[in-house]
Amino acid sequence: MKHFPIFIAVEGRRIVLSGGGEAALAKLRLLLKTEAKITVLAADPAPGITAWAHSGRLTLELRAMAPGDAKGAALFYAANEDAAEDARVAALARRDGALVNIVDNLADSEFITPAIVDRDPVTVAIGTEGAAPVLARAIKRDLEDRLPQALGTLARIGKAFRARADALPFGAARREFWSEYYFSAGPRAMATGGAPALPAALDALMSQHLNTAPRAGRVEFVGAGPGDPDLLTLKARRALDEADVVIHDRLVTLEILELVRREAVLLDAGKEGFGASMAQGDINALMILHALGGAHVVRLKSGDPTVFGRLDEEIEACDAAELDWSVVPGITAASAAVAGIGQSLTQRGRNSSVRFLTGHDMKGFADHDWAALARPGEVAAIYMGKKSARFIQGRLLMHGADPSTPVTVVENASRADQRIVSTTLSQLEPTLSRAAMTGPALTLFGLAPRVAEAALATPDLLKEALS
Ligand code: SAH
Repeated sequence: MKHFPIFIAVEGRRIVLSGGGEAALAKLRLLLKTEAKITVLAADPAPGITAWAHSGRLTLELRAMAPGDAKGAALFYAANEDAAEDARVAALARRDGALVNIVDNLADSEFITPAIVDRDPVTVAIGTEGAAPVLARAIKRDLEDRLPQALGTLARIGKAFRARADALPFGAARREFWSEYYFSAGPRAMATGGAPALPAALDALMSQHLNTAPRAGRVEFVGAGPGDPDLLTLKARRALDEADVVIHDRLVTLEILELVRREAVLLDAGKEGFGASMAQGDINALMILHALGGAHVVRLKSGDPTVFGRLDEEIEACDAAELDWSVVPGITAASAAVAGIGQSLTQRGRNSSVRFLTGHDMKGFADHDWAALARPGEVAAIYMGKKSARFIQGRLLMHGADPSTPVTVVENASRADQRIVSTTLSQLEPTLSRAAMTGPALTLFGLAPRVAEAALATPDLLKEALS
């Protein structure tokens, strides 16, 4: 992010603009929506600007900018549509200590003006760092269609009621009150009685909410998927939108944590598989504590919570505390990894079953039925298999697995930095050492990427013809 969006307090402050043509008019139309004091410097202003000056909406100086004109101004706009004059006035304004924007000159501007959706006091600012104004305008149009005009009125009258709504307990109770006001009771009252009907609607809603029993807390075990936010389920998205507290594992990506409701408490349980982390007992205690306090707790686990996620221990803790809980499944790393190499986990004629293994368990390297896995055509998805690669390789070879069995390791499956390393059982350990993977990795035993497989299966003559 090269530009950080903020909302500047301009009420009663000065905004100075140099220029009197089309560019100046366009900016002034926006600036006149603010409660700032606006000064325009233009030797030959467009009639529209003169008219605004006559009606007292801005101060007009019929001359070019001089040193000191931008003293004490919060913002300065150079809108002369003349590069040399813009550079001159921008330098003067900087000396006066104002933040400078040069219209249509991103590189020399200290700030840029976003596309704005105005439902005052609700304001949506859309920026693309100058990269795609067309896109910003399209998003603006889309939001304008979706946000009813009445939203501003609802928000203005709602704001005046905020102090009274504080009588409701902080958290879910208060949120539900506001949600009902904005999305059902408010619009309903507006439709029948217009804005004057809103205060009474708020009163009625308030007494109704004060008389309902507080909601009991609960825990939702939510699968966050392998990392790509687009692979979240709609239920997971909703849970992140509604949670009071989110307790997440370290493998949950930042892009996904971004989607958590801003007011929610975000707690990092630090777990990466069986790695060093907050002790399981502490995670359980934290989860229970918040849920018993009435919070909607989302226990956010990477992939699917039912796969190597120690879900059962956490469910037992909920049961012991008599808390309601539910599970929202997610896409497990194995599914994302096979998708990444264009293969199936099962295939008619090759393997009719697939194993999910962990390279590690709490006691160290995990033991499995190696003899069964070593048979031709077997497929296994190995979680937490990086450190145990040598052990797994040794066990499988010892039990007679074909050294040329394909093995594919997918690091950061589904994420922008996904990496696929394709090798064979005999080369697994050295290949992994060379690859020096730092992200989570899923080892697919018995599978090669479809592209590589196709190349192998293509007769040499055909391969030549194709190349
Ligand atoms: N519940 C998770 C697994 C947790 S165990 C799931 O269903 O995916 C942690 C292991 O999962 C990691 O060591 C790694 O082997 C695997 N893993 C998780 N996310 C991954 C990703 N994006 N790419 C590859 N492997 C991943």
